[in-house]
Amino acid sequence: MSDQDKQEQRRKIEALTDELQAIRRDIHKHPETAYEENRTADIVAERLESWGLDVHRGLGGTGVVGTLRKGDSNRAVGFRADMDALFIQEKNTFDHRSVHDGKMHACGHDGHTTMLLGAARYLSESERFNGVLHFIFQPAEEGEAGAKAMIDDGLFDLFPCDAVYGLHNMPGIEAGHIGLRAGPILAASDRWTAEFRGSGGHGSMPHKGTDPTVAAAQFITAMQTIVSRNVDPIDTGAISVGHITGGDPGSLNIIPSDVLVGGTARSFSDSTRDLIERRLGEVAEAIAGAHSCEVDVSYVRGYPATVNWREQTEIATRAAEAAVGAARTDPNLNPLPGGEDFSFMLQQVPGCYAFIGNGFGEPDEFVHAPRYDFNDEIISSGVNYWVELAETELDDMS
Ligand SMILES: [Zn+2]
Ligand SMILES: [Zn+2]
Repeated sequence: MSDQDKQEQRRKIEALTDELQAIRRDIHKHPETAYEENRTADIVAERLESWGLDVHRGLGGTGVVGTLRKGDSNRAVGFRADMDALFIQEKNTFDHRSVHDGKMHACGHDGHTTMLLGAARYLSESERFNGVLHFIFQPAEEGEAGAKAMIDDGLFDLFPCDAVYGLHNMPGIEAGHIGLRAGPILAASDRWTAEFRGSGGHGSMPHKGTDPTVAAAQFITAMQTIVSRNVDPIDTGAISVGHITGGDPGSLNIIPSDVLVGGTARSFSDSTRDLIERRLGEVAEAIAGAHSCEVDVSYVRGYPATVNWREQTEIATRAAEAAVGAARTDPNLNPLPGGEDFSFMLQQVPGCYAFIGNGFGEPDEFVHAPRYDFNDEIISSGVNYWVELAETELDDMS
């Protein structure tokens, strides 16, 4: 594409900003949580239909897919945005603050939905790609696995994709900059508990029983060796205790018969995830046994690690460089220990998940904080990224 054409494209996308900002603020004002994104899905579906896309609703609950076909190629690419809000009481005072008590768009999914709508709007009038684009608007990213619900409901059977891409805003990265990396970019996020049981007894006569408090205490220190002694030093993980209960503060002379320890485990590869799960069980059992106690360990797997595919990361990097410039693209972003259900899509289809900088707000303006707000200044950068990605993936010339 000539420089002049490129400038024309930028100008047309910039011209959509007011309309897109109004959509973004309207969605922000009316946040909807997991699987209740009906109003948001209405807005998405109505807009997509008005721009001539084929629209499929009700996939995985409230999910929406809009399809755009140009030319004769059957190569198909999926672009995904999430639509759900969080159970947080918003503390912002601006006009577009949440009108729903206890719910707010504190993770910027209002912005994700808007940027992807902007791309659909622009690309519906573009002839610069050859193939099929599926615009995937999913419910329930926040802990309720809406991506998996859409996959289980036949997302990639009904809309086969050769590649799939996701984009998330991120405070602490310069506004409009894009960061990504090949390989793991977000962690697997799991929960575990270990319940130690002994006879308990009178605190004055510990020799008459078995004491689960000693077993639990030794377990808490011993499990710290799983990451430091068992995980490969060039891989990484995190295991933290978030909860301990046992006994009664009103009965300090009683050795309890039950002590519950629980926490979170993060990892960036399947092998480390398996290892952490196995070793937590082994360490707990061995220590319980050493103290003539018993233990029940439960390990609940949440979202898997979000692992970017190499080839699609190179494509996404080229698109980001074309959209915001090489100086504003970081292809070696450090992985973050948060979790994302886009990981389920990347287990099925090659693809890449990237971050777009939301800029530097106050310290309490991080995602999931009650004063967070998606930065409307980055809408056009996000739209440009999606458009460049469509044109790179479905190149008219190839
Ligand atoms: Zn979030
Ligand atoms: Zn999010």
